[in-house]
Amino acid sequence: MTDAYQKLAAYARETAILASAGSLLDWDQQTYMPSGAAESRAEQIGMIAMLVHTRRTCAAMRDRIEEAEASGLDPQSAHAASVREFRIDFDRAVRLPSELVGELARVTSQAQQAWKRARAADAFASFAPWLERVIGLCRTKAACYGTPVGGEPYDALLNEYEPAATAAQIEAVFTPLRDRLSRLLVELRQGKDPAPIKIKAEAARQHDFGLYVIESIGFDLARGRLDTTAHPFCQDIGPDDVRLTTRYREEHFTDGLYGTLHEAGHGLYEQGLPRDAHFGEPLAQSISLGIHESQSRLWENWVGRSLEFWTWALPHAASIMSAELSSYLPEQVYRAVNTARPSLIRVEADEATYNLHVMIRFELERALFRQEIEARDIPGLWNEMYAALLGLTPPDDTRGCLQDVHWSAGLLGYFPTYTLGNLYMAQFMEQAERDIPGLKAGFCAGSFAALLEWLRANIHRHGRRYRASELCERVTGMPLSADPLLRYLESKLRPIYSC
Ligand code: ZN
Repeated sequence: MTDAYQKLAAYARETAILASAGSLLDWDQQTYMPSGAAESRAEQIGMIAMLVHTRRTCAAMRDRIEEAEASGLDPQSAHAASVREFRIDFDRAVRLPSELVGELARVTSQAQQAWKRARAADAFASFAPWLERVIGLCRTKAACYGTPVGGEPYDALLNEYEPAATAAQIEAVFTPLRDRLSRLLVELRQGKDPAPIKIKAEAARQHDFGLYVIESIGFDLARGRLDTTAHPFCQDIGPDDVRLTTRYREEHFTDGLYGTLHEAGHGLYEQGLPRDAHFGEPLAQSISLGIHESQSRLWENWVGRSLEFWTWALPHAASIMSAELSSYLPEQVYRAVNTARPSLIRVEADEATYNLHVMIRFELERALFRQEIEARDIPGLWNEMYAALLGLTPPDDTRGCLQDVHWSAGLLGYFPTYTLGNLYMAQFMEQAERDIPGLKAGFCAGSFAALLEWLRANIHRHGRRYRASELCERVTGMPLSADPLLRYLESKLRPIYSC
């Protein structure tokens, strides 16, 4: 490491400390803040965001990056990779004029209110002008970033969430996935849905069980918390502070449990980043949303929906959460939590059909940025695509194209990262099973440490040293492919549906 790198890292650390104060205010806003404080809180968050943006784009930051670039770091070193990532972040941030950033913030905040009203009233027409404005601003944003060489304008937005990914690469993986998933769903249609688990569990007992599970898988509650919100999320606040949230429904304990496990997967990734030594540097940051999502899905689905997990978890669930569970066998719970049937709502979809929901949104977004369609075309196209891919036609736009918050919030280019997460998960886990003998059998005894250690060593500790695609090849020896996810879903679901 050079002195110039140390100066850059020290400056970035101060910026990260400031940003983490903003994160804490944001977490509080979504959990415990009294509603009357909304206006002053928006001012606090806005002021910190502005100071952070200024520090990240100012001449002092540019000079420090230039000095580090010229300081003779070994090009193969982690520090050189870190400087490369500092440069990418800086160049992207300065390309956006601050007026555009401000307008996007204002318009999306109003558009989200308009979306809430339109969704409640099933009134797409009232939301359409707002959606048009958001899309227009995002097209401008994509133009400011510039189209990557050999790519398309949509790639520039995609790269905010999945650096270096292209729509063409994603399409190459999504297409075979879509075709084989569609065939799998036709097969499963011949079988019978597993019987549901019908029990009631108080929210407080569900919370206790959730804490027991996340502690057992290795989430450090001395450096994190679990609270309740309307929409579950994971907020990373500082080197030793990762906040998880979830929600509970008394008659559907699996909603709360899988929400908790999902967010804990994100939290374990955050807790595994080398933040003691590198807080504020790319070396202590996550690679991309796709890789982040691979970590959350892995604990939620690969672990949490396995028979081995339920063999361990069921007696604890019965004693901590609800005695009614003692009349069930692990096999029954396992089958019930793996029910796979086409449905209209993405966030309620099972592991197999979920990806089809994502592909529909990906195709629509891509067409928007190729200027082939406009906001007003979305409801019709949405319904046609749901009929073609899932065999269902939404009875209204509330259960159709108005269901997700993302577009009103300006998050275009975000959806594909959900399916990328599932794909990375399956590919990583095939490798983990090769590397760790008896991995799944260990879950039966509540032993999850070997898996967490493997994730720490192969994924978490690298921060942003490697690109997502590079990391995938380093860990698994193969570029990202649809095959592992398909093998995982087919081998699990076919026996459950006896086909
Ligand atoms: Zn997630």
